[in-house]
Amino acid sequence: MNVELLSNLYTGFYLILSGLLITMIIYRVVNCATGSDRKKWSSLPKYLKVLKVLLGISAICILIGLPFEAWIASGVKMITPFYARALLYGSLGVLMILELVKITSVSEKTVSKNLRQIFMSVYIFILIWQGFNFMKSAISTYSYPDVADCELIHWPVKDTWFVGHGGGTEHLNYHFVADQQRYAIDILKIGENESYYENQGGEITDFYTFNEPVYAPVNGKVVKVVDSLPNADITFAPNNRENPAGNYIVIQYDTNRWLFLAHLNKGKVRVEKGDRVISGDLIGFAGNSGNTSWPHLHLHIQNQPKLNASGAKGIPFRFKMAEVKRWGNFERQSDFYPLRNDLIKPLR
Ligand SMILES: [Zn+2]
Repeated sequence: MNVELLSNLYTGFYLILSGLLITMIIYRVVNCATGSDRKKWSSLPKYLKVLKVLLGISAICILIGLPFEAWIASGVKMITPFYARALLYGSLGVLMILELVKITSVSEKTVSKNLRQIFMSVYIFILIWQGFNFMKSAISTYSYPDVADCELIHWPVKDTWFVGHGGGTEHLNYHFVADQQRYAIDILKIGENESYYENQGGEITDFYTFNEPVYAPVNGKVVKVVDSLPNADITFAPNNRENPAGNYIVIQYDTNRWLFLAHLNKGKVRVEKGDRVISGDLIGFAGNSGNTSWPHLHLHIQNQPKLNASGAKGIPFRFKMAEVKRWGNFERQSDFYPLRNDLIKPLR
């Protein structure tokens, strides 16, 4: 398995969904064009009126959430080509506008056939569900604890890195569901080709992240080091449930604050238990150890020293200063939180 194959699967999935949406558009246009058999709103059965109102609400929610969803999906730009994403979100937008235009009328055919009624009900149910999700992402994308409620730390790597998981919602950050890792981030180094791997992405050494130096984000004391676990192959399957973090370093920097850096390269950790570190000190190298799909660096802060201890809480954190590209260009940011899709590079 390599990333190239995953990319083809993603692209295929996007194209199939787009095909379904375009089929719906054609179906709706053809239906709309045969205006002679259209019924007026007042003569529609009650259940259909309810469905149509729900459909209208869903279509509005989807249209509002669409730019956010399209932006979030741009996070897979390294593995899904632009045309596939544009086709999917473009056709969904066109279909929703069409639904709004058609909302007050319905084809005779639609009301007369049982199968069509079932089809309409299922279709509207899917749209309501989508509309709900899209609205949720539109509302919650930028929700993150204020600066005053966050730990302020230093960015741990050099060059340009991409935020794979980051943010204060489950939608943008899969760690969010675990109390201990609530605000964790997963980051990947980006190469000249604007991707996070070269060649086919089938080997860990194809990834720019692999063996990149990692620097202490805080001043503190190293309280735990694991350095002997092997790097996993690129499998895209959970591969090490016993040691999810792989090789990792824990730095205590305050009375009840412990910072974790995980999935490090085997045998390359540069600190030992008991060492004092100052932010910016080289402490290890990124790798692919533990439960990981491909090389990346994981960082989170807990209020307890043991990884994933039950009852431990993940503490929100922000970074002091870096150049961040969220929309458009790189901009100098201070006290920022990394959000999925951000490109981040430290200031020189
Ligand atoms: Zn992670």
